[in-house]
Amino acid sequence: MNIGILAVQGAFIEHEQILQKLGIQSMEIRCREDLKKPFDGLIIPGGESTVQGKLLKELEMFDTIKEMIEDGMPVFGTCAGLILLAKSLENDSRTHLGTMDITAVRNAYGRQLGSFYTEEDFADVGKIPMTFIRAPYIKSVGKDVEVLAKADGNIVAARQGNQLVTAFHPELNSDTRVHSYFIDMIKRM
Ligand code: GLN
Repeated sequence: MNIGILAVQGAFIEHEQILQKLGIQSMEIRCREDLKKPFDGLIIPGGESTVQGKLLKELEMFDTIKEMIEDGMPVFGTCAGLILLAKSLENDSRTHLGTMDITAVRNAYGRQLGSFYTEEDFADVGKIPMTFIRAPYIKSVGKDVEVLAKADGNIVAARQGNQLVTAFHPELNSDTRVHSYFIDMIKRM
């Protein structure tokens, strides 16, 4: 198994480190050519969704990644990655890849509560640590989307077929179980 990690901006190194802990090989996806190499799933990290979306276009990776996801490539978006995958954004007219049937709210917790930590249940996994940094949450989901976790009544993790998203950053805690969930998801597909 080899996981591609989008490495144009944001917290990609932390994902590499978690996968390393799990004994899973990974490679950084930085340019168009990298998308031609074989990999079994893609992680889109946290960072700044507007910057990542712009860079994907400038580097001419946007359409290829969108097609790959639509063709069933497993993808895991964290925080900004969730925003990139969301079909609609409640407070932003710019959407990006738009492959997942969710409506997200950017910077949903406001300035006061920009960053916080909590522990909540994650489907089939149990209580996990959740670190939020200027995070979005999911306001609503389409009928094919399974809600995996909530925090404070808001949806913070979900899955639609080959697509997994978390509003929090599982790569910033030592707990590897959400990444294991993604790896299992790939194995079962
Ligand atoms: N606030 C960022 C955005 O809108 C996401 C923050 C993050 O990825 N930690 O893209």
